[in-house]
Amino acid sequence: MALIVQKYGGTSVGSAERIKSVARRVARWKAKGHQLVVVVSAMAGETNRLIALARELQEHPDPREFDVMVSTGEQVTIALLSMALMELGVRARSYTGGQARILTDGAHTKARIISIDEQRLRGDLAEGTVVVVAGFQGVDERGNITTLGRGGSDTTGVALAAALKADECQIYTDVDGVYTTDPRIVPEARRLKTVTFEEMLEMASLGSKVLQIRSVEFAGRYRVRLRVLSSFEEEGEGTLITFEEEPNMEQASISGIAFNRDEAKITILGVPDRPGIAYQILGPVGDGNVDVDMIVQNVSHDGMTDFSFTVHRSDFQKTLRILEPVVRHIKARGVESGDKIAKVSVVGVGMRSHAGIASTMFRTLAEEGINIEMISTSEIKISVVIDEKYTELAVRVLHKAFGLEQPV
Ligand code: ADP
Ligand code: ASP
Ligand code: MG
Repeated sequence: MALIVQKYGGTSVGSAERIKSVARRVARWKAKGHQLVVVVSAMAGETNRLIALARELQEHPDPREFDVMVSTGEQVTIALLSMALMELGVRARSYTGGQARILTDGAHTKARIISIDEQRLRGDLAEGTVVVVAGFQGVDERGNITTLGRGGSDTTGVALAAALKADECQIYTDVDGVYTTDPRIVPEARRLKTVTFEEMLEMASLGSKVLQIRSVEFAGRYRVRLRVLSSFEEEGEGTLITFEEEPNMEQASISGIAFNRDEAKITILGVPDRPGIAYQILGPVGDGNVDVDMIVQNVSHDGMTDFSFTVHRSDFQKTLRILEPVVRHIKARGVESGDKIAKVSVVGVGMRSHAGIASTMFRTLAEEGINIEMISTSEIKISVVIDEKYTELAVRVLHKAFGLEQPV
């Protein structure tokens, strides 16, 4: 007998029929004698619908009220799934995040899970009840409803698996695993049987939304056995996130390509090149609670340089406002900015032992006439910022250049 946490995403619970199909799968696992905790998202499109509704009333919705509202999507699905399970003769009980005692910090709309008191759930599990928990939500210490950021149900699933020391956390979605890149952009993309935790962490942080980054972090911290699978197929082993690199395997140089169109680029022109300037620019940005991603400072000419960085698009206008007095104060020549950019990244632990990955990447983009605006690297990834309109082309040609469609 094992304790399994299963998480089903929006498309997987997108209609009454889909919910019945999820209930049948849960019932099959239950019939094998396992204990089951099931985490569900809101039905497909529901979270977007709710967010749009809120914005009709407030341009920047009040964060506390926003969370009260947007968390309702998941509350609907937990009850519906529990009903569907009861119809199949399976004992089931639904829990909101608060009822499951998922305690978070108070950062509305992007809260972090602090702890889970799993005793109550264990009681249900011991008596053979399937526990159905709302994803994406928790409560802070004052009892306010909080949400975990888009895609946060993945994190609820993995955090519950960690708290309950589950044997496996299964993320059921609308693709049958983690692919070499988003299969909706590159049809030749290949499912990976395994992907290392480090690679998954990079891919998630660089834009592959198949797993929310925080869920991967949780899996790493608590060594949760994590698998991504399709809810649309009966069988299939999906993709297992592994914690060891297999030394004997002929390691491909690159495992995957990630991309995102969520960032904006800001360049401060004609900045005096002297100590403390980076701090004078990025200090106020950080104080304004804006995360900075890539940073590039050019070589200086005549004591002047250009300073570029990227921020999340939702922070773009705010950052420009923060910078106005800074630019005047440091007597920079001006600001150039744009949000029509994309970040494309190649990721792979094999990069450590293969030379020439960067040159292959840059040559491939050059052959298509795609200009690279910024570059950043780490031990297992290379990211470039390019014009947004070339995103899909760049991903496709890089996928081919690294032979990712070939079975390893
Ligand atoms: P869910 O609603 O089940 O949480 P998401 O839409 O959040 O599902 O995540 C699944 C989607 O992630 C897929 O439909 C796919 O388009 C996208 N995706 C992006 N990158 C990858 C990748 N490398 N492998 C698999 N899917 C990916
Ligand atoms: N329903 C939330 C969202 O759409 C959480 C999730 O699906 O993981 O972002
Ligand atoms: Mg998701």
